[in-house]
Amino acid sequence: MSQTGPASGPNAILVVNAGSSSLKFSVFRDRADGDPVVVINGQISGIGTQPEFEAKDAARRPLAGKRWGADEPGDRTALLRYLLGWIEEHLEGATLIAAGHRVVHGGVRHAAPVLLTEAVMEELDGLVPLAPLHQPHNLAAIRALAEAHPGLPQVACFDTAFHRNQPWQAQMFAIPRELTEEGVRRYGFHGLSYEYIARRLPQLAPELGDARVVVAHLGSGASMCGIHGGRSVDSTMGFTALDGLPMGTRCGAIDPGVLIYLMRKGMDAGGIEKMLYNKSGLLGVSGLSNDMRALLESADPRAQEAVELFCFRIAKETGALSASMGGIDAFVFTAGIGERSAPVRARVGDKLAWLGVELDAAANEANASRISAPGSRLPVYVIPTDEEGMIALHTRKLLTGR
Ligand code: ADP
Repeated sequence: MSQTGPASGPNAILVVNAGSSSLKFSVFRDRADGDPVVVINGQISGIGTQPEFEAKDAARRPLAGKRWGADEPGDRTALLRYLLGWIEEHLEGATLIAAGHRVVHGGVRHAAPVLLTEAVMEELDGLVPLAPLHQPHNLAAIRALAEAHPGLPQVACFDTAFHRNQPWQAQMFAIPRELTEEGVRRYGFHGLSYEYIARRLPQLAPELGDARVVVAHLGSGASMCGIHGGRSVDSTMGFTALDGLPMGTRCGAIDPGVLIYLMRKGMDAGGIEKMLYNKSGLLGVSGLSNDMRALLESADPRAQEAVELFCFRIAKETGALSASMGGIDAFVFTAGIGERSAPVRARVGDKLAWLGVELDAAANEANASRISAPGSRLPVYVIPTDEEGMIALHTRKLLTGR
């Protein structure tokens, strides 16, 4: 049964981001007069081998930990039952009203989050071929949670949804129409992150509400998005999360002729997939590491080349996205590298000098929220992203209407 909380008590929302062997979760407490606030973060890792549970409070102080034996790998339902039990004990008077999930693919139909029903789940199952590495794990967590707590409403928030209303030219490949109609088109990802930034930027800089903004989400997965007046206009990721920028281990944009060449050499789809997703990008170019920190510290010329290629491609995509928007009024860095790597931001800033970018070195070193110099023609911001917060907001809206 659905839990409807006491009218006077606060509501809590569980946010889930499920991968192949790990499940990250956050618990948000709703507030009548503002956005939900996170009170617990945690994860279950080692699912299928030797699961381990850990939870921390909002100040990142450990709250709990548990390790299961290697002889009890645990099915997802049992693990989620454990998690829900633990959360119930730590709600401090609040009532869990729903779970919001990060789901990678919503296909062409979903331009907004959706309350999950069996019919919607069947439809999302049909999108597995479009995102075989992520979608099945997202859906497995939803099914396991439904078994562990049948009455709890669940909401899917899609990485693709924010990009669904891009102009058609940004969504279409120049391939035979039947393939486009079958769903072979550009979807774009990291949508929850971009949506959060589109909401946050005008709070920091009200004059940028209608602006044309290039946002660089630079994490272990990396992409960029052109946002005009809060709406996605174009993005660097396309049919899959492989397109666009080089990433930790993914290649980014590549001439499809390379794939034909590799196939003619005898590589099969599995081998090509493994190479392009897991052995390319910063790792492939440096031969050393997929971690930007390690590359910046390394004196190896291949590490320096990997960093340079990453920054070059960010600058190049800035030009492309600006052209899609007919101009650029602001630039935003976000995610792991974007939020914390002053050297990468400085290098990208240098390459964008032609657009009028001039960074304030001290502000950049300090990861300040505005890092451009007062006289910079283009303002540049660093905004920590919050995909979980965005999921909590969407879930609350679908459940309570506010
Ligand atoms: P994910 O995409 O997995 O959510 P994040 O957005 O947290 O990841 O980004 C992770 C990446 O950020 C790491 O792989 C690392 O390369 C990079 N990173 C984190 N901190 C720094 C830092 N101080 N300097 C440079 N790179 C960093």
